[in-house]
Amino acid sequence: MNTAAASAIRSLGYLRLGVRDPVAWSAFASAVLGLQSAGPHRYRMDQCSWRLETAPASTDGVVAVGLEVAHEAALEAIGHRLSKAGVCVEGAARETLAERNVRGLLRCSDPSGTPLELFWGQRIEIVPFASPRGVRFVTGELGLGHVVLGVDRDRYRDTVGFYRDLLGFRVSDYFRMGDREAVFLHCNPRHHSLAIGEWPAAPGLIHFMLEVEDLDAVGFALDACYAKGVRVKRTLGRHSNDRMVSFYAETPSGFDVEYGWGGRLIDDATWTVSEVAHGTLWGHRPPARTYAEA
Ligand code: FE
Repeated sequence: MNTAAASAIRSLGYLRLGVRDPVAWSAFASAVLGLQSAGPHRYRMDQCSWRLETAPASTDGVVAVGLEVAHEAALEAIGHRLSKAGVCVEGAARETLAERNVRGLLRCSDPSGTPLELFWGQRIEIVPFASPRGVRFVTGELGLGHVVLGVDRDRYRDTVGFYRDLLGFRVSDYFRMGDREAVFLHCNPRHHSLAIGEWPAAPGLIHFMLEVEDLDAVGFALDACYAKGVRVKRTLGRHSNDRMVSFYAETPSGFDVEYGWGGRLIDDATWTVSEVAHGTLWGHRPPARTYAEA
């Protein structure tokens, strides 16, 4: 695995969401996603002290996308690079660091207004992660999964440039959706930790993805959705670019979660960027259509 051309960003480290219904989220996170509660509104999915936060808010959306860097010097370097490029970068008070369980943190926003927290030194717990549903997640150097952001067309180029040229993300591939485009970006071997699409309306978080070690865990989560009355937005399917076998469910916030297995890894030494004609190999259909066709 070639890691010589490492991104300044090591991984998608955490996701902080503001949610209108944290109680519904608590049930959803444990009973459907299989995450372990780690204090108020926080969830573990591995040895990290937390990876998902669903704090009470008046609107549903991203409070911060947490991007992990290797160490203090890496955070300083990236802070300088952003400042030089005219990006407003804020440091964090000691209390904020303690609250996030990280040793260093810088805040900024991407050109579409998505709030970012760049951090290093995430706290690793001694007590093993214990999923209430016995799920094991694919994390480690690959991070928590991926996020897909929908952005206004007139901010798309600048937003992609920000992640690629300033944060060091590398392009995995492109989708073309009529006259719209989406780009998939990686910062470690996971095919994409971030995707950005031109969205005609309601820009923001389209979905986030969690990957599990075992295909059966995807099936069990799908069954949990049906048992709990959670709306399945896309049936089981396999993506054409990252080869993830997954389904999409509606979170209590309205945006979706993709729950998948078998994602492809990228070796930068041999990877060639392409444009993918269609997002799915099979499946990923709206359920109503599936039933109508059956
Ligand atoms: Fe996805």
